[in-house]
Amino acid sequence: MHTQLFINNEYVDAKSGETISVYNPHDESLVADNVQIAGQADVDAAVAAARAAFKGEWATWKPKQRSQVMRNFADLLDKRASEIAPLEAMSMGQPLSVVHMMLSMTADAFKYYSGWTDKIAGEQFPEEDGIYNIVQYEPVGVCAGIGAWNGSAIFFGFKIAAAVATGCTFIYKGSEKSPLLLLQLGALVKEAGFPPGVINIISGDGRAGSMLASHMDINKISFTGSVFAGKKVQELAAKSNLKRVVLELGGKSPSLIFPDADIENALVHHSQNFLFNTGQACIAASRTFVHEDIADEFIKQLKGRYEQFTHTIGSPMDPKTFLGPLVDGKQFERVMNFIEIGKGEAELVTGGKRHGTTGFYVEPTIFLNPKDDAQIYREEIFGPVITIRTFKTEEEAIKMANDTSYGLSSCVFTASTSRALRIARQLEAGMVNINTSQTFAMHAPFGGSKQSGLGREGGRQGMMHYLEAKTISINMRV
Ligand code: NAD
Repeated sequence: MHTQLFINNEYVDAKSGETISVYNPHDESLVADNVQIAGQADVDAAVAAARAAFKGEWATWKPKQRSQVMRNFADLLDKRASEIAPLEAMSMGQPLSVVHMMLSMTADAFKYYSGWTDKIAGEQFPEEDGIYNIVQYEPVGVCAGIGAWNGSAIFFGFKIAAAVATGCTFIYKGSEKSPLLLLQLGALVKEAGFPPGVINIISGDGRAGSMLASHMDINKISFTGSVFAGKKVQELAAKSNLKRVVLELGGKSPSLIFPDADIENALVHHSQNFLFNTGQACIAASRTFVHEDIADEFIKQLKGRYEQFTHTIGSPMDPKTFLGPLVDGKQFERVMNFIEIGKGEAELVTGGKRHGTTGFYVEPTIFLNPKDDAQIYREEIFGPVITIRTFKTEEEAIKMANDTSYGLSSCVFTASTSRALRIARQLEAGMVNINTSQTFAMHAPFGGSKQSGLGREGGRQGMMHYLEAKTISINMRV
């Protein structure tokens, strides 16, 4: 198991001398100690390697060479998934089946973006007053990525695949809560054939993140995490060298369920899909609004399903487990604290307790009719806790859905296409799901409006953030 930093295609000890230990949230047993933590000298070394690579051999590679090495990496990821997946399950409690799904999506990101390397076209404009303008897109340079723990590999894949497709180089720091799977990827980077310094992987906590955000020789940073830390990253980027910033932040996404909806489908999306990854998903529709005509029956049935899902709680290493533990003791305390507060703010329908006596397991929980200013209704919980309110009219539902500082995702469940599209236009969110939830497509922009983020990842838009436009004006009279 690699626990060192991966810089310039070599595993190296951190110059900081600092290490952390990673514990299994299933039973708090030690998974790994001696995980190296990057300090300023380590971050500087990674940035220097990425800068040298950006100016070196990598800059001379043809698009088809970049495509090939990206596909090599994707193939290796597919082949080695079962070797590395257990590390993520053990360090963050993600059920093995989910880790595999995420690794496969990560490989898909590299396959998808490998098709873009030779399609980065520019523009040209008709001559005007003797001047002819050409716009070309160039890689922005050395980029950094910081990720959260709930989808370690995916954030790595989304950011790095888009960046290297354009010719940028990268330093990636995952979360200190789940560093192990990511550190193993260094070996695959080298084996795939990326030149030294193109992809560097470091570990560390918010301090290492701040060092990246404030570094004077990083041109762009893409951050996935909380609103609080995202704002810090933007501030540090502005105070240092005004590096370009993309932020993928938290959410408190609404879901609107109308009486004409396919109720079985809505139930699946608000139970199984909502509870995916033990509710630790930025796009989870945690504020559900049900029309009053169907509310009683919907809630009764949803309660039954949540109680059934309690039986799927188990060790993340068991292939049959659907609900794993929360990532660590800190997150467990946070979620349990919200639940205790929620008991005074809303009606507890089901759940609301720790599951078992060891490990950080929480019962799937439903709260009904939270007060308007309830913390469980306003703040992102990031666990298996859903709140439900009822509504009478479409207008009222839209108003409640938009009454949040977040704007990541949203859902509408209805049989009426015109109603769905009418509402989609009015929802203040980067993504609207109609009769579905938690959707994700490699070719479509992913990201939030309002305080859920800045910029998009995925598709062409995600790649364009790694390119800088250059306008070349030619005097045709000379
Ligand atoms: P977090 O903000 O605490 O940490 C995320 C990352 O930022 C970690 O790598 C951490 O080390 C680093 N970090 C912390 N403070 C920093 C600072 N001051 N400067 C630079 N880096 C810093 O978030 P988390 O608890 O790891 O993840 C949960 C949050 O992430 C939730 O809010 C969730 O909604 C959000 N998230 C968003 C998306 C998305 O795509 N929009 C996806 C997944 C998670």
